[in-house]
Amino acid sequence: MENKKHILLVDDDKINLNLLTEFLTKRGYKTSAVQDGQKAIEFLKENSCNLILLDVLMPGINGYETCKRMKQLREIKDIPVIFLTANNDHDSIIEGFQSGGVDYVTKPFNSLELLYRIDTQLKLQDRTCELKKALQEVEKLSTTDPLTHIFNRLKFDILLKQQIEISQRYVSSLSILFIDIDHFKFVNDTFGHNIGDEVLIEVVNIIKTLIRNSDIFARWGGEEFTILTPETDLAGARILANKIRKAVDEHNFEKVQKVTISIGVTELKITDNAKKLLKRVDNALYNAKNGGRNRIEVLS
Ligand code: GH3
Ligand code: MG
Ligand code: MG
Repeated sequence: MENKKHILLVDDDKINLNLLTEFLTKRGYKTSAVQDGQKAIEFLKENSCNLILLDVLMPGINGYETCKRMKQLREIKDIPVIFLTANNDHDSIIEGFQSGGVDYVTKPFNSLELLYRIDTQLKLQDRTCELKKALQEVEKLSTTDPLTHIFNRLKFDILLKQQIEISQRYVSSLSILFIDIDHFKFVNDTFGHNIGDEVLIEVVNIIKTLIRNSDIFARWGGEEFTILTPETDLAGARILANKIRKAVDEHNFEKVQKVTISIGVTELKITDNAKKLLKRVDNALYNAKNGGRNRIEVLS
């Protein structure tokens, strides 16, 4: 398995390039070399690399300009750039940092010092990468329901407020469905909690196949789910609710065979806030339960 760190060397001086290549290769790095800034950018658009050693004085665009351009390209901008140049006056060093470099080494350089500086940047990059991944994981854990892997209530509340704002600002329709499994306590009591869990997952999977990517589907809690449907008026939401009710009713559940759901449906009004909307859809669901279950009820 190839897991060597890859360093791109950018220098117009062939002798320098050869020296660096030999030295870094010996130290276990993979290197690539190009002789001007434009070629470096082209190389990086096609190849991944972990760090760039960049000369300043080169034909064509100089190192500072090269670095600035790199920092504007999404796929390249996070690769650390260390300037490696004969310019050792303070203004040049400062310009290096201002162009987006993370470090500045002057020629002639001490090879061990250069190695430590490279190593520091690579370690920093690894840590940043790990942190980013950990953050994504935390974000996922805090926004999804562990059993069904759809959004949890916390995330739903945030998205609901956002969607209400968008819908009221742009005067676009927004509807909401409350879905509750009928007599779910009976399922648990008869077949056990684990089978109950499987039913919850099966219901979610059925619903997933019927909604749009833009719909927001969340576990409200227990055996209750909610779907927020942007750009969908009451008539559209009623069609969706009917489809979902019917699909669950007709589905042959693996262990339990028959499961039904009740659904409440309503649409956002211009005078609504989240609380009013939720109250109305909850009332609609209540009506569906009261009306005999395995049915949908719409409140406008
Ligand atoms: P109704 O038709 O009126 O909705 O009756 P119901 O039995 O579905 O409603 P009720 O609110 O009385 O019971 C809901 C049950 O859902 C009780 C609770 O133990 C169960 N439940 C909640 N969360 C979970 C879960 O994550 N897994 C399982 N297996 N059961 C759950
Ligand atoms: Mg319930
Ligand atoms: Mg129920």
